Amino acid sequence: MLGPVILAASRSDRMRRLISAAPVTKQVVDRFIPGETVDQIVPVVEELTGKGLELTMDVVGEDITRPEQAAAARDAYLRLVDRIKDLELGERVEMSVKLSMFGQALEGGHELALANVRPVVEAAAAIGTTVTLDAEDHTTLDSMFAIHEELRKDFPQTGCVIQAYLFRTEADARRLAGNGSRVRLVKGAYKEPAEVAFQQKREIDKAYVRILRILMEGTGYPMIGSHDPRLISVAQELARRAGRKLDEYEFQMLYGIRSDEHLRLAAEGHRMRVYTAYGTDWYGYFMRRLAEKPANLRFFVRSMVSK
Ligand code: FAD
Repeated sequence: MLGPVILAASRSDRMRRLISAAPVTKQVVDRFIPGETVDQIVPVVEELTGKGLELTMDVVGEDITRPEQAAAARDAYLRLVDRIKDLELGERVEMSVKLSMFGQALEGGHELALANVRPVVEAAAAIGTTVTLDAEDHTTLDSMFAIHEELRKDFPQTGCVIQAYLFRTEADARRLAGNGSRVRLVKGAYKEPAEVAFQQKREIDKAYVRILRILMEGTGYPMIGSHDPRLISVAQELARRAGRKLDEYEFQMLYGIRSDEHLRLAAEGHRMRVYTAYGTDWYGYFMRRLAEKPANLRFFVRSMVSK
């Protein structure tokens, strides 16, 4: 029952100030966010790709209030692309972006987010890789899918994320699976009302399997974004039944969560992509990771008390 409370706190400015200032927070944050700057993250990229893993890079940040911040987000991604260019890793390192960080919620936000994300997609394509649009809360998704469709006209590899907990997602999956998209399926990490989303884990897991079957049987490229061991086995079975080869889908997990499993799947010959977040505006990302697993919160509180 703690999850929804933590998710509500993830949108509170007061909590943001309190938690960000706590002396031990940084130590716990490091487990999920292994760097604040491009200089700190490049060695992490080299280390993980050296182990046979692939990456999707997220410059943390969301819920901005001024267009200058959106431009700064765009520039942060462009700096990242410029730095990883020399590593010549191509599509082994792609980018994940949150359109809220590119100005989506500001006045004229749809056009602003599209204008800011396009140069990042272009820069990624120029070094042989691509961008995936993360899914945020349900009110943002029509705009996200429209931007995805627009970007795909010039960059068909552009990916997007769909969330199994939303009632709308089965229909979204059918549309995307039919048009050959790269689609990451996740359970969903935001606090959503009962009018739009399943609330029980069992229902969400069942929806995940139904939607994954649609993606696997479609013409696109499914990306299984989950740490759930049962869903990973189900995905392997659905891929086998759909006649997909190992390079016709991929697994994705978050940096710092089930790291042994990342290596095990890669060693089995699967494409395994690690979502690696970095930057200074880590509060929202970090709080969603606490909400997903009560043990993370206990670890966080214990480290504060034992300080
Ligand atoms: P769960 O049932 O939550 O977890 C299964 C097991 O995984 C747990 O028992 C535990 O062992 C482990 N685990 C899961 N989460 C944690 C954690 N935080 N700390 C420690 N162990 C954990 N959500 C969105 O709404 N939009 C996105 O764009 C988005 N992108 C994502 C990208 C990737 C690559 C991944 C992996 C997740 C993304 N998510 C996104 C988050 C997702 O919606 C879930 O909240 C998250 O993945 C937890 O669900 P699960 O499928 O791992 O299953």
